[in-house]
Amino acid sequence: MRVAIRDDFMSFMQEDIASIKGPFFVTGCMDRRLTKIFDSMYREGSTIVRTAGGFLNGSQGVVEQLIKEYDTGIVTSHRGCGAAEVVVEGLKERQKVPPDIYDQVVNPFASKGCKDCTNVEASSPEMQKDYIEQIASLHGLGNKSIIMRCMDTPKPMVERPNKMELVITTPLRRRYSQLPGVSVNDDTKYYLHCDPSSPSLKCGVWIAVAEIKVGSIQVISQSPRENEMMAKVAETLKNDPEIQKFGVAINPPRLYDTSIKVGIPQKPGVTPRDRAKLF
Ligand SMILES: [Zn+2]
Repeated sequence: MRVAIRDDFMSFMQEDIASIKGPFFVTGCMDRRLTKIFDSMYREGSTIVRTAGGFLNGSQGVVEQLIKEYDTGIVTSHRGCGAAEVVVEGLKERQKVPPDIYDQVVNPFASKGCKDCTNVEASSPEMQKDYIEQIASLHGLGNKSIIMRCMDTPKPMVERPNKMELVITTPLRRRYSQLPGVSVNDDTKYYLHCDPSSPSLKCGVWIAVAEIKVGSIQVISQSPRENEMMAKVAETLKNDPEIQKFGVAINPPRLYDTSIKVGIPQKPGVTPRDRAKLF
């Protein structure tokens, strides 16, 4: 597996994408300030996955699917990241985060000796790399080409607006600007992509409500076959006391109709039905 870490994300991004033949996957942070960048990175058949901080730990099902489907991926981490602040708070005072979120999100950084946001953000790319390599080798897929990037938050920093929304959906298989009702210029939305059955879903949501202070959550399905699953996600969040104590509004799920096409990568051996098992 080839791994390169470079600092200047924007100037190398086009070079990276030009060097890749065919579709690829991209992983990164759910932060609202990065949506335009992910939109511009998209290529037909690619998949974009955004999690809290771009942390992949706990998203094993999604990572497995990505490395099985794609030969190449771009894994980005994030500087100036709200999720890194949660990690630091948990490192300083363990009781500040729920135990399951401590175990999954904070503890991996504790074992790396991280103490502040700079440590966390600097350690994250290697940790995501290690995680992908572990899963790839489990599946005998150690020869994947993974490009690592550390992404600075676009500057100047924009203040957080008052009414921010967390949009939860499955990994995105199209440009943001092609998603009905979504504008890449909307600076109020965080995008959390999940395997709905993964414990990392709750981690991302908790970070969004507790640290980022989003005021509402919108669950959407991108295809009819996801409708039932995503409605369950909304219901589960409504019933979770650790989420609800922050008083977040959970809007009725938005379920898209069949006229909206979703670009599913065509590759021998991986059928849409295989994907549906996970997503
Ligand atoms: Zn971030």
